[in-house]
Amino acid sequence: MNHIVNNILQIRSRIKEAALNTNRDPEEIKLLLATKTVTAENIKIALESGERLIGENKAQEIKSKYDALKDTPHQKHFIGHLQTNKIKELLRYDVTCIQSIDRLDLAEKLQLRLEFEKKEMDVFIQVNTSNEKSKFGIAPEKAIELTKQVSEFSNIHIKGLMTIGLFSAEEKKVRVCFKRLKDLHQQITILDLPKVEMKELSMGMSHDLEFAIEEGTTIVRIGTAIFGKRLYSDIYYWNENK
Ligand SMILES: *Cc1c(COP(=O)(O)O)cnc(C)c1O
Repeated sequence: MNHIVNNILQIRSRIKEAALNTNRDPEEIKLLLATKTVTAENIKIALESGERLIGENKAQEIKSKYDALKDTPHQKHFIGHLQTNKIKELLRYDVTCIQSIDRLDLAEKLQLRLEFEKKEMDVFIQVNTSNEKSKFGIAPEKAIELTKQVSEFSNIHIKGLMTIGLFSAEEKKVRVCFKRLKDLHQQITILDLPKVEMKELSMGMSHDLEFAIEEGTTIVRIGTAIFGKRLYSDIYYWNENK
């Protein structure tokens, strides 16, 4: 069996086991393939094994893989840091959800472009639950206000929250991040804001998906454990200027 397909089976079984451990239905947890640096050919192998959801970090990569993937059924989320000058590209290449809305001016520009193109977009609000300077996302204490502001934009539909947990060997510190996101999710749900649907919690990666599932995630984003180690460090992908 192809190693990618085999890795997906292993991830699926990790998801199942973690879900059952906390009395959750494994079916309610979606697997998003984090495909930065992965070739279109390898993404296709994953999609043809039955996967449907991918996440990219760079508009440029979405563009370069677009033709090779367009006839293979899938949905594409954007999970990287988004510069306002890249919004147009995301709309052109069929991104269905932007998981990384973390500031008002970005949402404003997105709304203007959506209006102009007569399109709509699902988004998640990205929260910096670890408070690390190196990570993007709105500070937790400002997340509710940003959610309210973004919810006013008629072509943007908020569907959930996203975070990258702390990279730490200390389980407790990682869990604190996920608990923070879940807590915000509940607070926002209670506010019952018009047009805001708190359906999804996007948290958990290759090394911490079990914790995320136990803390209530609905979407895990997995790259390394499926496609292998990347050549570039994640800082390259999470850096403003690259
Ligand atoms: C790369 C990436 C992932 C996947 O991380 P792995 O550790 O490779 O599983 C998840 N979320 C975001 C935002 C990423 O950039």
